[in-house]
Amino acid sequence: MEKILVSACLAGVNCKYSGGHNLVPALAELVRQGRAVPVCPETLGGLAIPRPPAEIRGGDGHDVLAGKARVVDRQGRDVTTAFLRGAQATLAKAREVNADLIVLKEKSPSCGSGLIYDGTFSGTTRPGAGVTAALLREQGYRVISEGEFTSS
Ligand code: SF4
Repeated sequence: MEKILVSACLAGVNCKYSGGHNLVPALAELVRQGRAVPVCPETLGGLAIPRPPAEIRGGDGHDVLAGKARVVDRQGRDVTTAFLRGAQATLAKAREVNADLIVLKEKSPSCGSGLIYDGTFSGTTRPGAGVTAALLREQGYRVISEGEFTSS
């Protein structure tokens, strides 16, 4: 059976920076059936719930992994280390469950797979992947957004 790793907030877990979730009922149902495993990179990286929103400044997740961009929260605090730690912990989880598919929350600085915010905290998006999505892709995993999942 295909094993899916999914952003925990999409499965209804209240792990968003705001303390809420981004429930997609079909994904929560897969978790309930044991066919998907929820994971939240930012909390795995040690960040609290709630927490200030963060964005990637100077590039996307691939640039963060290469040391060319940073993740900064709205208070100006550099949270790159926590984001990298969370990405590595998520990769370890993907390996542990032998994930065939990874469905991550679009626009998140960790989980975004096609779009992220541009680092200006103005609500502007740009093409690119978050730190965790970038690491998983670099390691050969298939990563899609919740929109791609529900339209497939
Ligand atoms: Fe959801 Fe990913 Fe943000 Fe965690 S890090 S709250 S799983 S989008």
